[in-house]
Amino acid sequence: MYINGIPLVDLKANYLSIKEEIDSTIKNIIDSNSFIMGKPVRDFEKEYAEATASDFCVSTSNGTSALLVALQAIGLKPGDEVITVPNTFIGTAEPVTLLGGKIKFVDVDKKTLLMDPEMVEKDINKKTKAIIPVHLFGQMADMGAIKEIADKHGLRVIEDAAQAHLATFKGKQAGYYGDIACYSFFPAKNLGCFGDAGAITTNSQEYAQKMAMLCDHGRITKYEHLMEGFNFRMDALQAAILSVKLKHLGKWTELRRKNAKIYNELLPDDVQKPFEAEDRKHVYYTYQIMAENRDALLNYLNQQGISCGIYFPLPLHLQQAYKYLGLKKGSFPIAEESCGKLLALPMFPELGEENIKYVCDKIKGGIKNVL
Ligand SMILES: *Cc1c(COP(=O)(O)O)cnc(C)c1O
Repeated sequence: MYINGIPLVDLKANYLSIKEEIDSTIKNIIDSNSFIMGKPVRDFEKEYAEATASDFCVSTSNGTSALLVALQAIGLKPGDEVITVPNTFIGTAEPVTLLGGKIKFVDVDKKTLLMDPEMVEKDINKKTKAIIPVHLFGQMADMGAIKEIADKHGLRVIEDAAQAHLATFKGKQAGYYGDIACYSFFPAKNLGCFGDAGAITTNSQEYAQKMAMLCDHGRITKYEHLMEGFNFRMDALQAAILSVKLKHLGKWTELRRKNAKIYNELLPDDVQKPFEAEDRKHVYYTYQIMAENRDALLNYLNQQGISCGIYFPLPLHLQQAYKYLGLKKGSFPIAEESCGKLLALPMFPELGEENIKYVCDKIKGGIKNVL
């Protein structure tokens, strides 16, 4: 398979590896004629809580809505400040503003490119309500230090784990150090469905009950609404598909880690490889190198039949959407520099060693030719 024409991700290969299981599951849901809530959704919630070692899991319509109800559950009020990082997807920040909160970006650690706890502490004031660390690319932020700071100042921690299914910090998954963890099951994520879906995990029964209610119009029974909520429910079809895929997630995660190891061994030293901190298990949602002349290398690799990706070319504070914050270029130098240098190489469980070798050879050639 491949060698020339290597995709960045291959959802088709993933589907084909479990086609029969998936097809029969989809057929069962269609035959049952029950598409909203019901047993498939409850079953998946139980299974995902168990897989993430959490007491509770609340299914949602996507990762962004998961973050929104999490922020509502902790009682975010207009004017409250929330600290997060600028090198992330806009879905991390949108829910804060939607609830009337104010986003405070902080720069990231130079090695891991994850939230720098020292920067967090500097930005805390009387209005600060919560911290949203982002477990970017599949590696958890320094949750020990972040939790310590949060406890010292009485802040809540909501983990954006949309890219970090089964990742650990000191052996613990998202939702252990933080109050709430939010996941996305967007098709390309490590655990992806066939559309949009997400989940929230927590060890707090109070938060779990409130978030479940908010996701289903504030209902306590079919006709009784305790509060106003949303329609942020997960489809039964997506839940059933996710239950099938969850059984394979551990194995797929190990394949991603194995692929990363091969990359680490074969890539030349002229490119900077991803840094995996010793106390963490990285699940390689993406495998990202840093190169000085990134765009030229990207073009070169595309010409050699290798698809690469750039996440994210522009940090959030420099996007038009956040112009109103008045943050200039240079505000967060480490995040900004990484956005200009990072290049995501093909990474998915089914990518074989031969293909990785081909990519690494071409990168060596690319360094000679364009860097
Ligand atoms: C994917 C993603 C989200 C949003 O998830 P959706 O399911 O697409 O709404 C939020 N944060 C991060 C870091 C993500 O990668």
